[in-house]
Amino acid sequence: MSKVILIDQDLENWVQNQRDNLVKMLLEMVCIPSENKPPNGNELPMQKYLENALKGLDFATELYALSDVDGLRTHQAFWGDRNYTDRPNLYASKKGTGEGRSLLFAVHADVVPGIPGKTAEDPFQPVIIGGRLYGRGANDMKGGTAAVLLAFQYLQEKGINLLGDLSFESVVDEEMGGANGTLAGRVRGNRADAAIIPEPTNLRVCASHMGGVAWRIAVRGKGGMGFGGEELRNPVYGMAHLIRAIESYQNDMQMRKSFVTPTGESQSPAVVLSMIQAGGFEPGMADGIPDTCMIEIWVECLPGESFAALESEFMGVIRTLSTQPELAGLEVDWELITRFIPGSSTETPLTTILLQQAEEEWGMPVGTYTAPFACDAFMFNCHSDTPAVILGPVGENAHAADEFVDIESLIKLAKIYITAIVEWCGVESGR
Ligand SMILES: [Zn+2]
Repeated sequence: MSKVILIDQDLENWVQNQRDNLVKMLLEMVCIPSENKPPNGNELPMQKYLENALKGLDFATELYALSDVDGLRTHQAFWGDRNYTDRPNLYASKKGTGEGRSLLFAVHADVVPGIPGKTAEDPFQPVIIGGRLYGRGANDMKGGTAAVLLAFQYLQEKGINLLGDLSFESVVDEEMGGANGTLAGRVRGNRADAAIIPEPTNLRVCASHMGGVAWRIAVRGKGGMGFGGEELRNPVYGMAHLIRAIESYQNDMQMRKSFVTPTGESQSPAVVLSMIQAGGFEPGMADGIPDTCMIEIWVECLPGESFAALESEFMGVIRTLSTQPELAGLEVDWELITRFIPGSSTETPLTTILLQQAEEEWGMPVGTYTAPFACDAFMFNCHSDTPAVILGPVGENAHAADEFVDIESLIKLAKIYITAIVEWCGVESGR
């Protein structure tokens, strides 16, 4: 493997001079409302934007429909009933000139639905304040995508011919437990010796990530108004018992499980009770008892934990309680509302290369971390021979109002990508 020595100062000057260009690309992308609203999604204009950009960078590009991928729907990891009409994946590639290792950058085109914020009142009309770019998708993951495009642009401008193949994919339907877009790329055979996923990791190299699953749990009683003295059973009290049990499950689990986040803190898998619902405001029911009380809950797990283990651990609590006297006269049932996303981890020499480059930017040893979120890396690590490492920008409020990305971190990210690409893929000797 030949090694090219990039002149640090040249590279630094080049990326710094590209700041406006980078910001322009990111603004354009955030303005494209590529929202994922299951079962539908509006990624097409984003995919066309990226296809156009990649063509301009001399990549061979193809937009392909998920329905054209043989074996996708029958794959064990395919999940759900989503509509993929007019939602193509993008695959772009550039052949290497020799025997180098191949590298794939894997991004997702979709964003979660936009929410008006204090700074970005319209989440698709991005705002820049104090080095932060606000808008839906700025952090997750159009910022990282812009850094990848900038890295590719450097290679093109400098005429650097890589030995290994360089490829890029932008998938649809990653958010909200989609993942079928990433699976499609794997089933289709778009492999590489390693992949980088630019999900936001605060410039930390993550060779593993958390998993999780969301359930909807319902407690059903007998609602109404007891005019005739009939016996009613309020499910809200039953749910209150369940919620207490979930809280103690969480406290107990957090004593047993932990991991180190990209900010260096020890954290435990989250149990997020995100929604509770009972009763209503139907006329005449102001003093009535509801029939049903429902919660939605996201339960995280560590890399390596199986669905069976998580299900028996968490649902075991619910099953046990539902047979206890506190829940007498009530029925408890539950359903999955997302696919199970396993946590995954990978071992690839690419991690070491990325870590060296990242530590150069940090100016100190920072180590590798577990990304504290579920993402599509598991499709690579569990269902393909392409190991995936997660490395993306600094930012906050992904999926929330006023999502932002730190622009300087994107400049640093582009530099890390450039040096890692050159070192991983190799260049013709003599340069
Ligand atoms: Zn993401």
